[in-house]
Amino acid sequence: MLEVRGISVRYGQGAPALRSLHLRAGPGQVTAVVGGNGAGKSTLMKAVSGVLPFDGGRLEGGEILFDGRPVHGLGPTALVRRGIAHVPEGRRVFADLTVEENLRAGASTARKDVRASLDEAYGMFEVLAERRRQRAVLLSGGEQQMLAIARGLMSRPRLLLLDEPSLGLAPKVVERIGEIISVIRGSGTAVLVVEQNAAMALAVADDGYVLEQGRVVLSGTAAELRATDEVQQLYLGGS
Ligand code: ATP
Repeated sequence: MLEVRGISVRYGQGAPALRSLHLRAGPGQVTAVVGGNGAGKSTLMKAVSGVLPFDGGRLEGGEILFDGRPVHGLGPTALVRRGIAHVPEGRRVFADLTVEENLRAGASTARKDVRASLDEAYGMFEVLAERRRQRAVLLSGGEQQMLAIARGLMSRPRLLLLDEPSLGLAPKVVERIGEIISVIRGSGTAVLVVEQNAAMALAVADDGYVLEQGRVVLSGTAAELRATDEVQQLYLGGS
């Protein structure tokens, strides 16, 4: 479904943020990309969702295919129409809008059945249903993350890109986010999730990649990756 073929990305005159990166995310699957600070995880998400140029980044080589068709060079609106939605790092919800207004903002304007999408979102995230009339600023961090994810789903994507969904959240909430990712996969939407929290990401994922300095250094099934010494020691706190 998503095939990233040898992309390289640079910001300004800096060192490359991604170097000939290859990656695939299959339909009906959760694919995890783990790696430390500055490994290039967010850059990968921005490249796939088309927002890279807004951040001063540029693709210097390679291609990105979605369902076999090139999509690099398309802007975010066109990519949402193709079925790719991006939930950026930092749960950027509209603080002064209500939960429901935030959700409506995520629905692509062409869709007439926003009501059905809202009902689906409320079915998946009970806490949002309870708080639909509240302003987003009043939600806890975990609830805001759920709102950001639910808003991403409002365009009914076939591929959801999640950038560090567990960042700054308490362990119980992180666990809940993991469950939500499984539910999203169950509903038929593929998920590409990048995380510093490798334990969570590799627990929920089918396949995974380890990124270091803009390169894939390891890849395999999530179970294979969890079993490697490198992932154990560097990312899962093993010894
Ligand atoms: P983090 O977990 O800290 O978000 P990351 O793995 O997502 O890290 P990126 O944010 O993709 O990493 O950053 C990869 C590299 O690109 C880093 O060296 C970073 O300094 C650089 N970089 C990222 N965004 C920009 C930008 N807008 N302008 C210049 N350099 C950037």
